[in-house]
Amino acid sequence: MLKSFKKGVHPAGCKDLSAGQKIERGPEPQSVWLPLSQHIGAPAEPIVAPGDRVLRGQLVAKKAEGLSANVYSPVAGTVKGVVGHITVSGKKKDHILIENDFSDESMLLPHLSEVTRESVLARVEEAGIVGMGGAGFPTAAKLNVGGRADVLVVNGAECEPYITCDHRLMLEYTDEILRGVELAMLACGAKSAVIGIEKNKPDAIAALSEKCGGNITVRALRTLYPQGAEKQLVYSCTGRVIPEGKLPVDAGVVVVNVHTAFSIHRAVDLDIPCYERVMTVSGRAVETPKNLWVKNGTPFRALAQFCGGREDCARIVSGGPMMGDSVFSLKICTGKTSSSLLFLDESESEGKVASACIGCGRCVQACPMGLSPTFIEEALFRKDFAEAKRYGASACIGCGCCSYVCPAKRFLTQSVKLAKKIIAERKI
Ligand code: SF4
Ligand code: SF4
Repeated sequence: MLKSFKKGVHPAGCKDLSAGQKIERGPEPQSVWLPLSQHIGAPAEPIVAPGDRVLRGQLVAKKAEGLSANVYSPVAGTVKGVVGHITVSGKKKDHILIENDFSDESMLLPHLSEVTRESVLARVEEAGIVGMGGAGFPTAAKLNVGGRADVLVVNGAECEPYITCDHRLMLEYTDEILRGVELAMLACGAKSAVIGIEKNKPDAIAALSEKCGGNITVRALRTLYPQGAEKQLVYSCTGRVIPEGKLPVDAGVVVVNVHTAFSIHRAVDLDIPCYERVMTVSGRAVETPKNLWVKNGTPFRALAQFCGGREDCARIVSGGPMMGDSVFSLKICTGKTSSSLLFLDESESEGKVASACIGCGRCVQACPMGLSPTFIEEALFRKDFAEAKRYGASACIGCGCCSYVCPAKRFLTQSVKLAKKIIAERKI
């Protein structure tokens, strides 16, 4: 029988807007603002200076010590400098500004003489690959588990509404994704791989099932949000439970996204570092929703102009509507983890005015982590962080299910995430 995690919600998919759109080349930006922090860990360190000419595929910032990732230029052009530039968090962060000369002169990574566990791990690190499903964890560190994982789980769930970039990749680059899965298995030492795909993508399930074989299998998953969250996906694909505060590898599993697997193939077989990705631009306030190859550092405004996104729409979101960030400026630029940019009209984004909790318990029934969001919020307002911790705030995955179901429109996700942050900062 089909396993699935408990609880969760069924938001409207809205994927029909862009699911049928083949991946095409996105806009060629006049300039790119490359964030030095497109990943979890320390920002990369610039190795270029103002006036330097760089090629597409050239290293421009080196990974810092420890957890970090290299950054490559997606265009040929001239470095203007390292500048503070606005990000979705609202804070300015360091970006390398490169003016495109449109010559598209490029360079590749040196070709690997042999494909071994060590050479694949080194190449994944060199190419600056990070988790492209949204987490941004440096992939080489994730794969380097010293034989502790026997199963690789590949995330093709794409459970957030609207987003279809992974769906299109699975249809249009099926062989390349399977090759990336084999390389990831080699790197982490897994003996088998399970590709988890929600049942609302039957064509992707069919395409991968037809071509995979041996120790790689496809599992059709219930269409249930957040099926693509790490703990939920691992349970649905393998039946294994990741204990609270532990990592998938503690249950013998490594998880990579299908786009990450595709990027591993590009880096190892084609010598292309990570400087662009496929993104979905969608929503009812977009003239022509699309799935696009987008260069890292492309301003959101260029995507809005390319697809006809209305800047004065009800809400612009970077990422999915459940977990994404509201966008307040189209000057913000894309990065390695940018899966989508949504332009939502009034019918898709009702204004939220919170009222008092009516004690209906729906948030408790929906939380896939088994938490009590309403009690955590209450404890937060009382500044009783020890109590918030007792109700499990630290286990929150920020999925947004509690806010989605709350009839009082309370900002539960933000409250629980804030409680989690304070508990971590104060080491409660
Ligand atoms: S409390 Fe956290 S994990 Fe639970 S539903 Fe809300 S956002 Fe998701
Ligand atoms: S869903 Fe909203 S109204 Fe219902 S118990 Fe939770 S916080 Fe209160």
